[in-house]
Amino acid sequence: MVSERLQPFKVSVFSEITAAAMEAKAVDLGQGYPSWEGPAFAKDEAIRALAEESNQYPPYIGLEVLRTAIADRWKLDTGMEIDPSRSVTVTSGCTEALSSTFIGTFDPGDEVVLFEPTYDAYPVGCALSGAIPRYVTLHSPDWSIDPDELRDAFSSRTAAILVNTPHNPTGKVFTTDEMQLIADLAKEFGAIVVTDEVYERMAYDREHIRMATLPDMWERTLTLSSIGKSFSLTGWKTGWAIGPERLVANVRSAKQFLTFTTPNPMQWGSAAALRAPESYYDELKAMYLAKRDRLVDGLAGLGFGVRLPEGAYYVLADHTGFGIGDDVDFVRHLISEVGVAAIPPSAFYHSSDEGKRLVRFAFCKSDEVLDEALSRLSRL
Ligand code: PMP
Ligand code: GLN
Repeated sequence: MVSERLQPFKVSVFSEITAAAMEAKAVDLGQGYPSWEGPAFAKDEAIRALAEESNQYPPYIGLEVLRTAIADRWKLDTGMEIDPSRSVTVTSGCTEALSSTFIGTFDPGDEVVLFEPTYDAYPVGCALSGAIPRYVTLHSPDWSIDPDELRDAFSSRTAAILVNTPHNPTGKVFTTDEMQLIADLAKEFGAIVVTDEVYERMAYDREHIRMATLPDMWERTLTLSSIGKSFSLTGWKTGWAIGPERLVANVRSAKQFLTFTTPNPMQWGSAAALRAPESYYDELKAMYLAKRDRLVDGLAGLGFGVRLPEGAYYVLADHTGFGIGDDVDFVRHLISEVGVAAIPPSAFYHSSDEGKRLVRFAFCKSDEVLDEALSRLSRL
């Protein structure tokens, strides 16, 4: 038997849908991985490192070359000078930055405020650490926060609030006012803020706000991110945590016993990736903006209820106009009868039923894949 604490979670919805899509030979707009490979300037450096650098254990906190690249990128993005040896630690993807944060920071009974829809790794992180999730629903159609509901989720037991911006799966980019509200509550209740910024380069209509840059927030914020989304290298599983020394030390204390360290060549490649010129990020954003509009326009034309996502690379669409059951029924029908795979978002909900009328499509796919999916969806 799986341990009691992991029993509720089963196989992740992403693995389940990807396998079902492959079996049915469906066009896959499910799991969020690009249908192309990452840039040569990153891959070439990883290949060089594989041939010329050490293939033995790197330091558990990460290679200096990568920690320095992360700190330099942080300076360009925020103007803040940070010490790569104390304020940065390398992890195996943002997933391990998250699990290390949970395990290394929280004690059983600590409460962690999570927004729902919730990325699946957060409730699991709570289960691994014994922390108790307190869910606050982002309300459709604009995924707004009810300030009273947010305040009600905080108490003297609150250890942290986790903010994912740009947000998976809604595409919400939290506003400055929302980030300030969260910061004020964290300060009032003595909580830390953990941010998941893996979609940091994909904010289309509004600037991506970093919690750690708000007044007095550096000292109580852990910023987590990774190479995967920004460089279309999701299989590299190289990520990091940035923050004050005392919080980064918690992440390190757990990471050293989860994987101990992160593969050497990927760290060299990731360091090269982070030295990309600004034009790389501009092009990435322009590409995703065009794909977003292509998919949203197409879905709207077919009768889905859609809103433009402000960030990330997902569209959360209302499928109820087609009258095909809840989200799981609808996705099952899509895969077997229409030949398109998508994610049923009820997997991201814990206290609300909002996910049942929604379906998540990823647009990190080639235009041909998006067009083929839309053409198949017209059979609906
Ligand atoms: N956080 C969010 C919100 C995500 O969508 C993902 C998806 N990959 C991750 C974390 C995991 O990132 P990584 O692949 O770097 O572990
Ligand atoms: N972040 C990806 C998504 O939301 C999935 C990553 C995973 O499979 N864990 O599609």
